[in-house]
Amino acid sequence: MTTTSAPTTAITHIAQLVTNDPSLGEGPLGLIQDAAVVIDGDRIAWVGASSKAPATDNAVDAGGRAGIPGFVDSHSHLVFAGDRTAEFNARMSGRPYSAGGIRTTVAATRAASDEALHANVARYLAEALRQGTTTQETKSGYGLTVEDEARALRIAAAHTDEVTFLGAHIVSPDYADDPAGYVDLVTGPMLDACAPHARWVDVFCEKGAFDGDQARAVLTAGKARGLVPRVHANQLGHGPGVQLAVELGAASADHCTHLSAADIDALAQSDTVATLLPGAEFSTRARWPDARPLLDAGATVALSTDCNPGSSFTSSMPFCIALAVRDMGMTPDEAVWSATAGGARALRRTDIGRIAPGARADLALLDAPSHVHLAYRPGVPLVSAVWHKGVLV
Ligand SMILES: [Zn+2]
Repeated sequence: MTTTSAPTTAITHIAQLVTNDPSLGEGPLGLIQDAAVVIDGDRIAWVGASSKAPATDNAVDAGGRAGIPGFVDSHSHLVFAGDRTAEFNARMSGRPYSAGGIRTTVAATRAASDEALHANVARYLAEALRQGTTTQETKSGYGLTVEDEARALRIAAAHTDEVTFLGAHIVSPDYADDPAGYVDLVTGPMLDACAPHARWVDVFCEKGAFDGDQARAVLTAGKARGLVPRVHANQLGHGPGVQLAVELGAASADHCTHLSAADIDALAQSDTVATLLPGAEFSTRARWPDARPLLDAGATVALSTDCNPGSSFTSSMPFCIALAVRDMGMTPDEAVWSATAGGARALRRTDIGRIAPGARADLALLDAPSHVHLAYRPGVPLVSAVWHKGVLV
């Protein structure tokens, strides 16, 4: 073990530990029974059998609870104000709802103070952390002016390293009659103001949002500024989003609800992760994405919450795991992998999503003997302890 000034901590008697490192344990999840993990500072220093754990400054007895890597939620929209309770209630009551959808949130977000937006982001990050999420990507997309998008990204960047510029969420209501002019704004002055605050560029490539040519313009401009693409693709219908994501080397194609055989093939042959967001289908009573053909073809699948006030107002990765197992053809092992290692792949990170020496010390204990309980006991708050960057939350 490396020696540092930080005290080392051993977590022992973990009934079953998911490492996501096949070299450390059994199967693709690298499962270890009666495991121990040693934390040194913000890193994992040692992983193995409890009986072989080295001496440490501190010890925590997991008492037969299961352990998993912290969840990596690679898709959310947390910089917003207001909520859309009335819209959800109307949709779930079978009533038509003609108010503004995303525009409602855009108006509320523009009107909110920086302090209010910071507080909102902090609140939902804390909520997610309590449920085991130790890495959270989040996006702009409710400002839709140069100033409001740049502000959203500055606020997001104060809370997470994984920040995505989504000026192309919808065409700004200010440009309702001039979508081409809005694309020019997004790829010009807005990108100039936003690129310094973001790692990723995203576009909602869908009928009613941005078509294939517009999406290509946004992603290409973002790439030229050093941002890596990710795409809202094939959520509401078949479209060019997935093929575009693969062609431009996007880190992920997100939603993937309506896929052709060619889309599945393209994802399987690429490094682009298929990120499935079942909270959106749940909250809109839409058809589920089917993970099975993607997994069988060899595509990498991630699970994420899509947390946003309109179409998926959940921050719960365990909830998404349960839905993916119940309704999307995933096994419990696959769903847990996708919510941890899969999310890390979607963010092109190797330091998170696994419990192995050198990885960031992000892990959770479950009030259950196995990670399978995340799907087996849906809705039950099983996450009972979370370490984030080596600190017990
Ligand atoms: Zn989204």
